[in-house]
Amino acid sequence: MRLDTRATGKWLSCGRCRELVYAEHFERDQRICPYCGHHARLTARERLGTLLDPSPTPIAAAPTVDDPLGFADVRPYRERLARARRDTGLDEAVLCVAGTILGRPVVAAVMDFAFLGGSLGCAVGERITAAADRALATATPLLIVSASGGARMQEGVLSLMQMAKTAQALGALDAAGIPVISLVTDPTYGGVAASYATLADVILAEPGAHMGFAGPRVIAQTIRQPLPEGFQTAEKLLAQGLIDAVRPRTALRAVIAQLLDAAAWGRGARTVPEAWRDAAPPLARRPEELPERDAWETVRLARNPGRPTTLDYTAWLLDEFLELGGDRASGDCPAIVGGIGRLDGVPLVVIGHQKGHDTRELVARNFGMSSPAGYRKAARLMRLADKLRLPVLTLVDTPGAYPGVEAEEGGQAHAIAENLRLMSRLSVPVVTVITGEGGSGGALALAVADRVLALSNAVYSVISPEGCAAILWRDASAAPQAAAALHLTARDLLGHGVVDAVIREPGGGAHEDPLRTAQLVRGAVAATLHELLRLGPERLVAERARRFRGYGVARKEVAV
Ligand SMILES: [Zn+2]
Repeated sequence: MRLDTRATGKWLSCGRCRELVYAEHFERDQRICPYCGHHARLTARERLGTLLDPSPTPIAAAPTVDDPLGFADVRPYRERLARARRDTGLDEAVLCVAGTILGRPVVAAVMDFAFLGGSLGCAVGERITAAADRALATATPLLIVSASGGARMQEGVLSLMQMAKTAQALGALDAAGIPVISLVTDPTYGGVAASYATLADVILAEPGAHMGFAGPRVIAQTIRQPLPEGFQTAEKLLAQGLIDAVRPRTALRAVIAQLLDAAAWGRGARTVPEAWRDAAPPLARRPEELPERDAWETVRLARNPGRPTTLDYTAWLLDEFLELGGDRASGDCPAIVGGIGRLDGVPLVVIGHQKGHDTRELVARNFGMSSPAGYRKAARLMRLADKLRLPVLTLVDTPGAYPGVEAEEGGQAHAIAENLRLMSRLSVPVVTVITGEGGSGGALALAVADRVLALSNAVYSVISPEGCAAILWRDASAAPQAAAALHLTARDLLGHGVVDAVIREPGGGAHEDPLRTAQLVRGAVAATLHELLRLGPERLVAERARRFRGYGVARKEVAV
């Protein structure tokens, strides 16, 4: 199981591919094999060197009991402890410091697997907790780098209690809005995986790192279940929605700095560029400003696969978009993507349905039809935005929530309902752009916003025209009539007040000039955020509530 690298003179043999690597180059490249990309283990000190700026300050912790049980197996615990101390030059399996990453303040707790398998005993638990306390007292983000076989058996039930102690400390950080970033390295198991390694706002992992509660050996010995390929690897955990992202060691410093930047903006004055005030292109705000369009023709345009997708917008509009995955429970739905990026230096949480430009992409993205895992991922990212005080931009383009057996069994209805309630209470600005199809509850689950914008060929409706035709006309070919009857075009939506402004698409539609379309969206979003970011949380929530409360209430005149 253990992959590592052993020295033979100036040359090393990679623990995975066995190729010979020149030792000096290997150390220079942060112990990553140039042939197979294997990330060999780092000591805690080496890890601090790769992540933090030089000379961090150690954080003191209360003294702890050394050998509470007087434990001995084939050797006394005290002897093992003394040996670990001698071999590693550390006095325990974690180093806790206050320092900076590319100049951004951070409190870091870094585990060392070489010290008794990085096991979680009383001293480790106390130190992690002291680091969390320091983060809380100084309102500084906490970074935890895990490498552990689990709780330390030799300290018995007191080791077990460290899981609760550390979880409690992270709970206090969460309540205070202090971000916690977890970096999972190989291996992270047992009581560490089931406490501070996974109780983070963002969980990053190194390629190939293993993480789980029960290790492969335990599973094999207890229930003898065969293990699937890639079991408990970072890549599998990502696909299963259990971690946010897998990044190579060499990229971690920049990625963590980016997260620290976003958090610092949210805790600071939240300044936006003054140029945003006038960034909007000429928008249509009343129905008569838009031409009357054939509804069915508009539906077909809204579905054109050449229109920009959410990932096109994030690539073209944002700097350093970091996609964050998973609902931490059931999966990572490819039909909804989300993450943190910067628009003119302002960090945003962007979440949107993801379709594709060809059949292969569309199939891979399930045609933009989300599962419950997708809505739960969106909810997780919206909570993160709320905690970090970052504005939310959602991009809506879906035929609807996925109508399938698994989605039903996974709680589709409740996942959508939760998002409606969650969005109505978010304390940060929420801007939605309907970029294509606004299909029913699956669209609204991302669209309970302070401002809803739409592209001029977008549609938004309670049901698809085909679905409506099949039910009411009993004939799916009556879709064009249904489309007209549903009043689902941008012009109709302005009339109903469901969208606030319409972004006019260039030429014959967004698919003819996707880049220009993205630029128009950028301007409209920037101007809208400029306006909303001046409003306090109470006002945002109150006005959002008033907005949705008003729908359907009789007015003197409805201008459609
Ligand atoms: Zn290798």
